[in-house]
Amino acid sequence: TQPAAPAGPAPGALSPEEVSARFTDIFGAAPDGVWTAPGRVNLIGEHTDYNEGFVLPFAIDRSAAVAVRLRDDKTARLFSSYGDQGVVAVDLTTLSHGTMRGWTAYPLGVVWVLRQMGVEIGGFDLFLHSTVPTGAGLSSSAAIECAVASAFNDLCGAGLTANELVLVGQRAENEVVGAPTGILDQSASLLSTDGHAVFLDCRTQESKPVPLDLAAEGLVVLVVDTKVSHAHATGGYAARRASCELGAEVLGVQALRDVTEAELPEAAGLLDSETFRRVRHIVTEDRRVLDTVAVLADAGPSAIGALLTASHASMRDDFEISCPELDLAVDTALANGALGARMTGGGFGGSAIALIPVAEEAKVRDAVVRAFAGAGFTAPDIFAVSPAQGARRVG
Ligand code: ADP
Ligand code: MG
Repeated sequence: TQPAAPAGPAPGALSPEEVSARFTDIFGAAPDGVWTAPGRVNLIGEHTDYNEGFVLPFAIDRSAAVAVRLRDDKTARLFSSYGDQGVVAVDLTTLSHGTMRGWTAYPLGVVWVLRQMGVEIGGFDLFLHSTVPTGAGLSSSAAIECAVASAFNDLCGAGLTANELVLVGQRAENEVVGAPTGILDQSASLLSTDGHAVFLDCRTQESKPVPLDLAAEGLVVLVVDTKVSHAHATGGYAARRASCELGAEVLGVQALRDVTEAELPEAAGLLDSETFRRVRHIVTEDRRVLDTVAVLADAGPSAIGALLTASHASMRDDFEISCPELDLAVDTALANGALGARMTGGGFGGSAIALIPVAEEAKVRDAVVRAFAGAGFTAPDIFAVSPAQGARRVG
């Protein structure tokens, strides 16, 4: 029902020196610096962020790198190594949040938000090279926003904290791009530390690193990019968000975070059946995130599989944001040795993750490829990810 993503495979990683050299080739002078910010997978906690609940993502070893040089006029020139748009030149004196289109809405959206906050940003040249596949549910958009926000925070001496930069990226996504997303993606990209997931309370923005040493436990997390593209600025994502807001309003709470599982039977009597199932996903998902954090501390990552799989079932049946390709990836991984599996990200396409003993990895990969071919689906892209460092200056 949805078109396959036009995106090809992500281009290969470049070193900071190579990013700098590409910038110099394009713009004729060296950049002032190079920053990177990663994409993420969400281990568990889907659509809970805008319900002021809990999430547990980790940054992945695929990231957006930006090289930036400030100019002394009011022109922005932007170039991405992805696509064939060439240099996009923009007059910043006429920049308005309703008129930005295409990929440059992400970096320019961040600039617009920072300027709204009083950060003085004049002209600049910007080169982007990202290894996060686009529209795959791995948050290529937040990777760009967070790299750009970090760059201007440093270059313009704005002095914003990581939590403040999270909100800058979110505002760019909400107000400029028009996707009504929460703070999950930007938090993962900005707050992650190597070898850890980030446990985040989206009401208070308090976060804590949670050790996630997969290799030490003989485990791997595989991403299955189904190549089914999603668009979060339209359609299902916004509808789910509206259902959650309706549920909270009818139940008389500030956010669904404030509803407990014990209150669900009563909620069932107050809500229409669809809204109730949306609410039940959020309420049970919040509890699964807390359980996952507890199980990781007590028993380690090999014990969280059932929670991941229960999360998928809730998204498939109650929140209804999965699709046949994601369900097939999850079911096939589980049938071939995965300890747990779930779709990750906003849904309606994108990627699934599977937690797998290293010894079973090849078997799972083969089985998923065969299952997709047998179902007549586009061949998926399958790759391992490990918890990586968040946004930082690299050159
Ligand atoms: P996701 O964040 O899950 O990857 P989104 O739809 O939120 O999906 O963001 C994808 C969009 O981000 C693309 O359509 C494109 O506009 C932009 N984008 C991502 N990576 C790049 C890139 N390397 N170059 C240019 N634009 C990019
Ligand atoms: Mg996105």
